[in-house]
Amino acid sequence: MRVIDVAEVTAKIRDMAIESNYNVDPEYLAQIESAKASESSPLGRNILNQITENAELASAERVPYCQDTGLSVVFADVGQDVHFTGGSLESAINEGVRQGYRDGYLRGSVVNDPLRRENTKDNTPAVIHYRVVPGDHFVLYFAAKGTGSENMSMARMLKPSDGREGILRTVVEHVFESGGNPCPPILLGIGLGGSIEKAAQIAKWSLFRPLGRPNPDLLVADLEQDILKAVNRTGVGPMGMGGDTTCVAVHIETYPCHIGALPICINVECHAHRHAELEF
Ligand code: SF4
Repeated sequence: MRVIDVAEVTAKIRDMAIESNYNVDPEYLAQIESAKASESSPLGRNILNQITENAELASAERVPYCQDTGLSVVFADVGQDVHFTGGSLESAINEGVRQGYRDGYLRGSVVNDPLRRENTKDNTPAVIHYRVVPGDHFVLYFAAKGTGSENMSMARMLKPSDGREGILRTVVEHVFESGGNPCPPILLGIGLGGSIEKAAQIAKWSLFRPLGRPNPDLLVADLEQDILKAVNRTGVGPMGMGGDTTCVAVHIETYPCHIGALPICINVECHAHRHAELEF
């Protein structure tokens, strides 16, 4: 049995919240850098330059990359041989968010209730997904998820007969209709299969995958590539101002599903791709 003091969890989440908001994913920035050469729109190239310049400034000046410092989303992989001491794991994660958003001067963007809508002022609570895994591993994944892009996410129950073509058409139409709202160039996380909530959860999880790494299933990886090419032909472009660079990568995660269903969830990520992970 491995013992972990939750005070350590709080300290790590605090640091992940700050560092991910100051430092956008370097793999995302590398994709933007290489897209500058192929972007045919002058305005599009200008925006790509602004994105990398903004990232450099945020990192150097240690200020948030974007004014929307995101909703804190945490995936916690908890080994079944891990025992936590010092209090509740969930409280410790939220305390880490609280300290990170306070100490990093990050905007509190969470309201206590979808109807009453009073700002909690410290960005808590986080949205936390726990997964029980074998052994004594404990891994935390943190994302500061921007809401302009989150708002452009969607879930739909397709028919099994819609198949691959239906999936492709659904995603391309959705990206086109979303236009500049999700602050492109975007990253698309797509959950296929399961139930409606499972599709949403694996869509979110796919955003934590190293950028552009294909799904190990070649059939799925092939669909990822076809969707990527198709959405980049929509002409939405950087910030929706037209161009070739609408999307930098498509990540699909799948799960078995009912014979009568083909659930799909598209979780859209913006150019503020901020995440961190830590194995204890
Ligand atoms: S969608 Fe992303 S880039 Fe746009 S304002 Fe929100 S966090 Fe910033």
